[in-house]
Amino acid sequence: MQEKARELLVKYFGYSTFKTGQEEIIDSILNGGDTLGIMPTGGGKSICYQLPALLLSGTTLVISPLISLMKDQADALENLGVPATFINSSLTYKEVNYRLQEVSSGKFKLLYVAPERLQSEEFISMLNRVQVSLVAVDEAHCVSQWGHDFRPSYLAIASLIAGFSVRPLVAAFTATATGNIKQDIVHQLALRDPYVYVASFDRPNLHFNVLRGEDKRDFLHKYLVDNAGHSGIIYAATRKQVDNLYGFLAAKGFAAGKYHAGLSDDERIRAQEAFIHDNIKIMAATNAFGMGIDKSNVRFVIHYNMPKNMEAYYQEAGRAGRDGEEGECILLFSPQDVQIQKHLIEYTNMAQKRKEKEYRKLQSMVDYCHTTFCLRRYILSYFGEEISGNCGNCGNCREDFELEEITVNAQKILSCLWRMRENYGTSLAAAVLKGSRSKKVLQLGFDRLSTYGLLSKYSSQEIKELINILISEGYITVTNGQYPVLKLCQKAYPVLKGETRVYRKVFEERERQVDSELFDRLANLRKELAQKEELPPYMVFHDVTLREMSQRCPADERALGVISGVGEIKLQRYGQAFLTEIRRYLEEKN
Ligand code: ADP
Ligand code: ZN
Repeated sequence: MQEKARELLVKYFGYSTFKTGQEEIIDSILNGGDTLGIMPTGGGKSICYQLPALLLSGTTLVISPLISLMKDQADALENLGVPATFINSSLTYKEVNYRLQEVSSGKFKLLYVAPERLQSEEFISMLNRVQVSLVAVDEAHCVSQWGHDFRPSYLAIASLIAGFSVRPLVAAFTATATGNIKQDIVHQLALRDPYVYVASFDRPNLHFNVLRGEDKRDFLHKYLVDNAGHSGIIYAATRKQVDNLYGFLAAKGFAAGKYHAGLSDDERIRAQEAFIHDNIKIMAATNAFGMGIDKSNVRFVIHYNMPKNMEAYYQEAGRAGRDGEEGECILLFSPQDVQIQKHLIEYTNMAQKRKEKEYRKLQSMVDYCHTTFCLRRYILSYFGEEISGNCGNCGNCREDFELEEITVNAQKILSCLWRMRENYGTSLAAAVLKGSRSKKVLQLGFDRLSTYGLLSKYSSQEIKELINILISEGYITVTNGQYPVLKLCQKAYPVLKGETRVYRKVFEERERQVDSELFDRLANLRKELAQKEELPPYMVFHDVTLREMSQRCPADERALGVISGVGEIKLQRYGQAFLTEIRRYLEEKN
């Protein structure tokens, strides 16, 4: 069986080795046991049931919560030569009946269904005609009320399984199973003495970074210019911020889309499709975007605002680099973000106890934004995993920064706040330090303060940035309420007395992966082929595969066939087109 699985991995998927955990999980299923696989996004869960589906007799029923993904997954499998289909609410009764007939005749190895289907008795009795050998439950945490994605229809899965005349094997998969969710999955799905595989949640290919006190728009502009051609998501906290961000990106000439719950279904679908099909590279979105997006070549995820907790952050950031290639996850922190999140908790309809829990989670998120230790270690430890040592590959482990001393400017700011009796917000403090002659400054007599105009050589924006750095580093705190006021913290006094110094980190430019000309040409070819077949480009080949092609320049089908991600069917379907493009490129260059 082992040998056979490996053969099929090469034949259909074009991969020569398993990813960590895949082998164990597939073994367990093929040995006839129930199985629970807990792996991070991008860990390779799909193959864990798709390969057994090919090897087991009969059909594998895949229960997946996302209707939009279902079609994509079935298409992707068809494109690999694996017979698969789906049934969901987009189909007519007649079509459903017809597909089931085809399934029972053995035409398909995998059948994807939405959990809502399981509540229809008619559908269940129709399913009895099909020989189901394996039930694979995707996003299995949806069965648990402890999680944030609870789907009541998932509760029908256990009775579905019990209803078959011969009990099929059950395999469940999820990326989120902290605390009691794991036990709950086993219990609610009535798994029988399951083999549980828990993979590390580390995503070594992701580079984490937190930037504090940065001018967000300037940063974004520069970053997007440097990363032109790469796909990325920019998450903002509110619809309004997404709209603003979208306007800013459009004004700067970037081809971007936007996505939030305030848009019509149609607008959202169009934006999502354009992103998946590589027609636009940048998506500005609220957290409503991303569930059900399998796009493997997202190269960066930028959080324009701090999200509400680490769970949300890791899930959203984790949408980068699903293909195992480098991905960058940057969080742009500003103290105002904390106010927004506190506001959201305070004004939602939650029991006090729940609110307290949310505040605690928020605090862990804020701590992440301020830790000076390894960010990866912080994340993993939050999810209950300890690593030894630092990762060497996150913003805090990087050593290519210089410390710029800002003690004198810090003293000027802190002393100015003190003289303003710690009673005003950032804008007014900046105006006083700038030496503004605005009505308000003059009315309050702040032009007579000894700190008036002390930072006049800086722009107001630069002064606000300095204030933000001091807030982020805990020298100043911002009060809650409609008119937030700046107050000095304990840490500020030794600075004023000249006892401690204040520094900011200035990073050197990170080296970026620059794609070769051949890669770009192959990516264009991929896009043309995908358009013809109405598939997202990454379903033709992943970025990793194109990159390997552009490095190794295979001259014939044999050489192309050993490249990771080139299975038999794709070789037949696309091989000649890519070989021709590579040959043409080499001829032009020589
Ligand atoms: P998950 O569902 O766990 O997020 P996927 O099943 O979508 O992950 O797989 C993530 C990526 O890894 C996909 O691009 C997939 O093609 C790739 N992949 C899966 N298994 C392997 C393997 N054995 N070798 C190389 N790449 C793999
Ligand atoms: Zn680190």
